[in-house]
Amino acid sequence: MYYGFDIGGTKIEFSVYNTALECVFNERIPVPAEDYEELLDALDKFIFEADKQFECKGLVGIGYPGVMDSETNTLVCSNLPSLHGQNLQNDLEKRIGRDVKVQNDANCFALSECFRGAAENADVAIAVTLGTGVGGAICINKTILSGHNFGAGEFGHMAIPGTMLQRHPELPVTHCGCGGHSCLETYCSGTGLAALYKFYKLHIDGSCSEEQALKGPDIIAAYNANEAVAVKTISVFLDILASALGNLMMILDPDVIVFGGGLARFDALYTKLPEQIKAYVFSNMKIPALKQAEFGGEGGVRGAALLNYK
Ligand SMILES: [Zn+2]
Repeated sequence: MYYGFDIGGTKIEFSVYNTALECVFNERIPVPAEDYEELLDALDKFIFEADKQFECKGLVGIGYPGVMDSETNTLVCSNLPSLHGQNLQNDLEKRIGRDVKVQNDANCFALSECFRGAAENADVAIAVTLGTGVGGAICINKTILSGHNFGAGEFGHMAIPGTMLQRHPELPVTHCGCGGHSCLETYCSGTGLAALYKFYKLHIDGSCSEEQALKGPDIIAAYNANEAVAVKTISVFLDILASALGNLMMILDPDVIVFGGGLARFDALYTKLPEQIKAYVFSNMKIPALKQAEFGGEGGVRGAALLNYK
């Protein structure tokens, strides 16, 4: 049996998969936000109960919201104090007496798509999550590329190309939570899109009340209804995203780019974006398939379980 945990900012999801990759158990509990021992207690309770229920010693994989310090193997999870600075792998292995694999949650999401998902037949797959932030992951031959600092695939924190500021001179230079400036995430996440809409509302109409400051789904609805500010916002949003994906193509030349997160349902990512990416790559390059993730909300926990799948 394959056990997967998806530890998020508010909940822990636990699933058990059999060798046919069918989910045979799933439960969510609130995540202990402050107390690390309480969090470990919650994990090993799930594990030992599943061992009993399925009469096995399941293989354990965990997805977490952050990055790993490559020198100490401790987790950097600024949004989850109970996990931040802890060596989860070591501590849980000691408690449960077996190996534990841990991975960044975006990497787990991508791995899930490589097994019977949108990236099933891809040698090189890129996954991009457009949610609160912009997450990313690279899988090569169904294996996560972690990188020297466990930082591979952190596309959300690439600075957008200077040509974007040339093409859209009004575009503001932004400050990112990572300490950088004009990171992709500050324009192309759900939060970034809302900020971009507010910016153009002020830029075009001269004012933006609280009710007028639309969020993701409402901006897309306004765009579909041909509202001028939304049309401008989305055209810049897609151009920035196209330039970022074009740059990634020039590095990795992937077979597929899979979108996840709340904005992944936006049609234009599949209808308009492929054409727009062409402006940023060699003219002879074929644009890879752009696909919506097939496992959606389940991807994180499924990918965590798949960390041990051969
Ligand atoms: Zn950043």
